[in-house]
Amino acid sequence: MIVIKNSEQLKKMRVAGRITGEALALAGEMVREGITTKQLDEKIRNHIEKCGARPSFLGYGGFPASACISLNNEVIHGIPSHDRVLKEGDIVKIDVGAFKDGFHGDSANTFPVGKVAPEVQRLIDVTRESFELGAAQVAEGARIGDIGHAVEAHVTANGFSVVRKYVGHGVGADLHEDPNVPNYGTPGRGPRLYRGMVIAIEPMVNMGGPDVLELRDGWTVITRDSSLSAHYEHTVALTDNGVEFLTKI
Ligand code: MG
Ligand code: MG
Repeated sequence: MIVIKNSEQLKKMRVAGRITGEALALAGEMVREGITTKQLDEKIRNHIEKCGARPSFLGYGGFPASACISLNNEVIHGIPSHDRVLKEGDIVKIDVGAFKDGFHGDSANTFPVGKVAPEVQRLIDVTRESFELGAAQVAEGARIGDIGHAVEAHVTANGFSVVRKYVGHGVGADLHEDPNVPNYGTPGRGPRLYRGMVIAIEPMVNMGGPDVLELRDGWTVITRDSSLSAHYEHTVALTDNGVEFLTKI
C-alpha cells in the first residue's frame, strides 16, 4: 500500500531528511586515508542523536551500526568496523537514515579516498547522473517505470550495469514502504506518482556485471565479479511545491 503524506507529515519528513543529509555530509568531509569506517559511523550517530533523532538503521533487522558503510566491490549494507581503514584510491559508500518525529530520511553517496583512477571517478559520476535523470522523471501522473528506465539507460550507455536485486522504495513512517523503485523499468509502466508520495531513488551501479552476493556476515552485499560498485540516494517528495529533495542540504 502506497502511503500519501499530508502537509504536516511532509513538514516532519523535511526535518528527518535534513538531519540525514547533514549526517551524510559530515561523514563525507571526514573521508581520507587512515580513517576507519567505525569513525565515520560514530560521527553519523553523534550528529543524528545531537539533533534529537535516532539512526534509522541501528537495530533495523538487527543491523549493528548507525550507517551502512561499504568499500570498493561492496555494494551496500557494509558493517562499520575499527578494522576497516580507508586507503588512498578506495571508494567508500555511506548510507544514512535518521528517524525523527515518526518519519525517516534515507540518503547515500559514494566518496573517493584521495585520488582515484579516472574510470573510477566516471563510475561515481555516472551513478550520480543516473539518479538526477531518474529524479527528473518525478511528476504527477508519471510512472515508477519512467524513473527506472531513465536510470538504467544512462548507466548502460556508459558501459556499466545496475544492480537489480536491490531497489529504491517508498519512505515515511517506515524506512521501506511501497512502492518498490527499481533502477530499471519500462516507460509508462508501474505505479503512478501522486502528490504526497515520498520515495528513495537509489541507483546501485556496478563497473562489471549486475550480479551480487551476500557475505556470510548476513549483511554485506558484494559484486559477484568483484568489480567496483557505486551508490547514490536521496529521499524525494512530490508535493504541492513540485519535486523536493528532502535529504539534499
Ligand atoms: Mg539508504
Ligand atoms: Mg534506501
